[in-house]
Amino acid sequence: MIDERFDAIVVGAGMAGNAAALTLARKGLKVLQLERGEYSGSKNVQGAILYSDMLEKLVPDFREDAPLERHLVEQRFWMMDDNSHTGLHYRSDEFNEERPNRYTIIRAQFDKWFSKKVQEAGAVVLCETTVLELLQDAYGKVIGVRTDRKNGQVGADVVVLAEGVSGLLGTRAGLRKTPDKSNVALAVKEMHFLPQETLEARFNLRGDEGAVIEAVGTISQGMTGMGFIYTNKESISLGIGCLVADFEKTGQTPYGLLEKFKQHPSVAALIAGSEVKEYAAHLIPEGGFKAIPQLYGDGWVVVGDAAQLNNAVHREGSNLAMTSGRIAAEAIFQIKSRRDPMTKENLALYKKMLDESFVMKDLKKYRDMPDLLHIQAQNFFLTYPQLVSKAMTNFLRVDGTPKREKEKTTFRSFLAARSLTGLVGDAVRLARAWR
Ligand SMILES: Cc1cc2nc3c(=O)[nH]c(=O)nc-3n(C[C@H](O)[C@H](O)[C@H](O)COP(=O)(O)OP(=O)(O)OC[C@H]3O[C@@H](n4cnc5c(N)ncnc54)[C@H](O)[C@@H]3O)c2cc1C
Repeated sequence: MIDERFDAIVVGAGMAGNAAALTLARKGLKVLQLERGEYSGSKNVQGAILYSDMLEKLVPDFREDAPLERHLVEQRFWMMDDNSHTGLHYRSDEFNEERPNRYTIIRAQFDKWFSKKVQEAGAVVLCETTVLELLQDAYGKVIGVRTDRKNGQVGADVVVLAEGVSGLLGTRAGLRKTPDKSNVALAVKEMHFLPQETLEARFNLRGDEGAVIEAVGTISQGMTGMGFIYTNKESISLGIGCLVADFEKTGQTPYGLLEKFKQHPSVAALIAGSEVKEYAAHLIPEGGFKAIPQLYGDGWVVVGDAAQLNNAVHREGSNLAMTSGRIAAEAIFQIKSRRDPMTKENLALYKKMLDESFVMKDLKKYRDMPDLLHIQAQNFFLTYPQLVSKAMTNFLRVDGTPKREKEKTTFRSFLAARSLTGLVGDAVRLARAWR
């Protein structure tokens, strides 16, 4: 192990860790980045949609050499029952712009590329190195890390915890609590390979155009969760995730849900004949603003999923990870430039800067949404999708029934499932949480 002291140690080489290490190294700090995986990205799971704006702030010309799959021109939202889906579908040729706003990526390839940028900037990156614990002095200040390498203790002025959603190091050191099971989703994902022409024909795509589908409804069996289908060049990423607390309560399994999702008639046709090559499972922090732990302390900051910075309502995580990693690094650089110590008081600058960014503003805006979706899961993820589907069938089927009677039938079926006050209450609660 390197017998040196660093300005900063970054634990983890995912989106947040790479953003932090890149920013710190570019600013001339002596940086050590430690990653337990065989290479950056080898352990990481994402859908995956990449948001360009946040990456451009780190690597402005990323489009020149980053491994990108498709730029997104189409978004579909599906509300499903067992046999149908009701969709909202948006496609725009404006998304065929010179600098597209969203891409699909494959994390194993993307993170490798990102890590190369970190190394080129001058950071020392050590993979296959697990950080076992944070080293703290007698006053609790974090002064370095102990790794699984021989003589594996390394010192640093500050440790950036970018260790992902489980965040074991931080919780073991007592810096924050283990995330609550009702604040964390367990998602499973498969990669389905198809000939490129078949994939493009099924999703109505040309060239590098891509489409994504995000789905809620009976596929999650009344649990808080959603499914997704994202198009890559020659494969489809398909997955589903629900809150861990809900899996525990219902006894449902993620794999069982995934199988059902794939068998749904709207999905089966899209993946027919595909070859499944990869299967992965991973947690996602979904507690939102109220679940964010203490973000800084004496000698440490926490970024990305480890800090629960994930916007489940908009299905954004990697961009919050990159942004929090970059901002933490910028705060550290400012403190270092003033030759101030990395105390809790000084590192509060990271939180102040994060509060001013979209990360905290967005999470704060939806602060009540995770609780609402969890408490009202049966209504939002089961009852209403079923009712909407019934209403659509009734509306579309031409069978000689007068339209007024059809409307009455639909209205009555809503009232039978939920009283008028219940319906209005849910609508008001949803509107309030969305404000
Ligand atoms: C199924 C799924 C789909 C998703 N889809 C999207 C999407 O489409 N768009 C989006 O923006 N976000 C999406 N997300 C969320 C996104 O993946 C995360 O928000 C993002 O990866 C967080 O980055 P991170 O760097 O904080 O954590 P991670 O990417 O998890 O990286 C943490 C790293 O730390 C390493 N590590 C952990 N502990 C140690 C240790 N003790 N020592 C050394 N290394 C350690 C890990 O090996 C890992 O490389 C999705 C997540 C899942 C699970």
